[in-house]
Amino acid sequence: MLLCLQSGITAWSQNRFEYSHPQMGTVFRLVFYSFQDSSEARALAKTVFDRIDSLNAHFSDWLPESEPNLLCQKAGEKGCQKVSAELADILHQSKGFARQSRGAFDISVGALTRLWRRSRNLKELPEPERVASALKTVGWRKIDVYPRMSCVRLRREGTRLDLGGIAQGWAADDCLGILRNNGITIALVDAGGDIALGDPPPDMDGWQIDVPSASGNTRMVLKNCGITTSGAASRYLELGGKRYSHIIDPRTGQPLVHRTQVTVLAENATTADAWATAISVMGEKGWNRLKRKPEIKVWISESPL
Ligand code: AMP
Ligand code: MG
Repeated sequence: MLLCLQSGITAWSQNRFEYSHPQMGTVFRLVFYSFQDSSEARALAKTVFDRIDSLNAHFSDWLPESEPNLLCQKAGEKGCQKVSAELADILHQSKGFARQSRGAFDISVGALTRLWRRSRNLKELPEPERVASALKTVGWRKIDVYPRMSCVRLRREGTRLDLGGIAQGWAADDCLGILRNNGITIALVDAGGDIALGDPPPDMDGWQIDVPSASGNTRMVLKNCGITTSGAASRYLELGGKRYSHIIDPRTGQPLVHRTQVTVLAENATTADAWATAISVMGEKGWNRLKRKPEIKVWISESPL
């Protein structure tokens, strides 16, 4: 997880506000500067947090009645299903990241993530036959998305969607957009380590972000971008001396067992979030083979955990 630090300096005219809100299995932190008084700022933070709550219903695979789960009930059927603009957009972008990462990032891993999540709870490995049958439901190419019509068709029966590798980044960018629409450009939204950054704090060149690494924290000064760290070792099942991560290799159906930590700096938090998960899967060698993404910066290290 990334730690966000910042100076205590406050411009004479702008107030610094900070709020937090638990959602999507993490805690969202909101920092912004404005000329508002505290009750106006609190009201704006509430607008942002209400939006995060509603995004959870659009993106969660935990809630039985969530949009992705209702969509998955129609997997394999003919015809396109109408979905919210938010879901259509995140699915459309996810397909782009899947294509660019050659399938290392794949939101159709849902059947596998459920199986391995259950294993983490039971502390036992799943039966190989169950992994094999879940693996058959995976394949981003079998997801048709028509973003302009907000329409989606899952062509493969049994497909389960899991947006956990991108939803927090998408939500962080969305919250920054809400603040911007309300005239607030100096802002930071931290969705539990998926961070969207706006203009820098007054009198600062950027937001000071500490990225943990094996050799200690590295401080970066950043603005108008997204940064995230994915750790194969951040959530895992430990059995027989092996650590099975919460990140799954969609080619094999198996969780990652290495302890790599990937930090990605990109134009926004959505892109950083998706690539951090993708590069965790493909590893340094796989990433070096791609090497066509000058617009994103990547740091790969052994996890300190
Ligand atoms: P992150 O912490 O952003 O790397 O996301 C990890 C989460 O993304 C997991 O908890 C799963 O919900 C989901 N996920 C796991 N493996 C993949 C994958 N290969 N592609 C996309 N999402 C994944
Ligand atoms: Mg991610």
